[in-house]
Amino acid sequence: MKGNGRVLKGRCNCGAVSFIVEGDVQGASVCHCSQCRRQSGHTWASAHAPVSAVKISGAPRWYHTSETARRGFCTTCGSFLFWKAHDEDRMSFALGALEAPTGITLEKHIFTADKGDYYEIADGVPQRP
Ligand SMILES: [Zn+2]
Repeated sequence: MKGNGRVLKGRCNCGAVSFIVEGDVQGASVCHCSQCRRQSGHTWASAHAPVSAVKISGAPRWYHTSETARRGFCTTCGSFLFWKAHDEDRMSFALGALEAPTGITLEKHIFTADKGDYYEIADGVPQRP
């Protein structure tokens, strides 16, 4: 997936926040942690790119989930679009917000030890507890 040369376009549900990602996209994953489940309503699928490669239009609100990271969402429609660790120069963006074709394939499920008890992960994609 690295260097797929594609320009990815995404937006929130209402369109007030949109973004373009151009460059080194990596780590397509589905997060099952309780924070992502609460924020999204289920699991959160994302990939990450250098901060400089993610161009955001509009004004997402940044919610500081913890000491270490923040989450960006649209203040109008609530779409959860971005996740950024304070000490990393990469930012994660929601795969569900992207226009197709994305050229992206999920690489892993993460924080599966923290997943909800109401579903099983049965798609054969590698799991990391
Ligand atoms: Zn919106």
